[in-house]
Amino acid sequence: MRLRFWGVRGSIASPISNAALEAKLKALLKRAIQKNVQSEADLAKFWSSLPLHDRGTYGGNTSCITVHDGDDFLVLDAGTGLRLFGKELSTGKEEIDKPIHILLSHFHWDHIGGFPFFGPAFQEGTRIVIHSPTNDAEKYFKVQQSSPFSPAEFAFLHAAIDFEISKGLDHKKIAGFHVSSLGMSHPGGSMAYRIEGNNGGIVYMTDTELADIGIQNIHEYSTFFNGATLAVVDTMYGLLETYTSKLRWGHSSVFPFIDIVRDTTIKTLVLFHHDPDLDDKDIEEMRERAQHYYEHNTPEGTMEIIAAYDGLELDVPALNSDA
Ligand SMILES: [Zn+2]
Ligand SMILES: [Zn+2]
Repeated sequence: MRLRFWGVRGSIASPISNAALEAKLKALLKRAIQKNVQSEADLAKFWSSLPLHDRGTYGGNTSCITVHDGDDFLVLDAGTGLRLFGKELSTGKEEIDKPIHILLSHFHWDHIGGFPFFGPAFQEGTRIVIHSPTNDAEKYFKVQQSSPFSPAEFAFLHAAIDFEISKGLDHKKIAGFHVSSLGMSHPGGSMAYRIEGNNGGIVYMTDTELADIGIQNIHEYSTFFNGATLAVVDTMYGLLETYTSKLRWGHSSVFPFIDIVRDTTIKTLVLFHHDPDLDDKDIEEMRERAQHYYEHNTPEGTMEIIAAYDGLELDVPALNSDA
């Protein structure tokens, strides 16, 4: 199983500013001069020594991830990153032969705003199935894609689009994967998904606030994580100082997630749904402090902590490495 991240921001698309890009480029050139980069070989060595926040950016598209296993795939959320996945899926193809299954966590704009720009939805012969917690999904999609909000109305789409309820799933087979769901604490509610392949699987738990969930829910969450090997979690208010000023806004800091997953089967924890106010250095700092917190509290632990960025691809660790 493999994941690809097409959008990792929360709330609103937030591309890097020109001023931030210019500052990055100047700092890079200065370091290259100091390192006496003279040849292409010097450049390749210099480049590979740089962390992501110096040589690139975490990105600005909103929530969208694809899960692949061989020819099988499904999509998690339809934020602005979905447009790019649509382009890749459609390139060179007159017809998309497999149904496209999209699992929605909920209907806030940052999770559905990419759909009106999803190329395959305009293609004859495509079949799209949208799984969501409510039977009002079709109504919401029609409103989003109606005049005066959108130039291409929902009725204009050529694909066959079906809607299915994803609430209360327990090992339902969708696109070759076993999918389970769990309701989250978020304004208006949201849905977490566990998606399992043959050996390992992922939990996608975005847009959730862990404060006040109580011991019963912590047990329920641990059970939900168990069996999966990679977790993508909402750490929008990553550090405690941010979180305490935004209590009850429906998002989490990174630390309670570490506490919940450290005794489960999770081997890779992916920080996701980044606050649009965080710049690349802030996100790296959050990841470093999360790593430090984990190592300090779990000296024998081997879990990897990664901050998601647009374009990141990850192999899902095997549950049983002997298999
Ligand atoms: Zn969101
Ligand atoms: Zn939300």
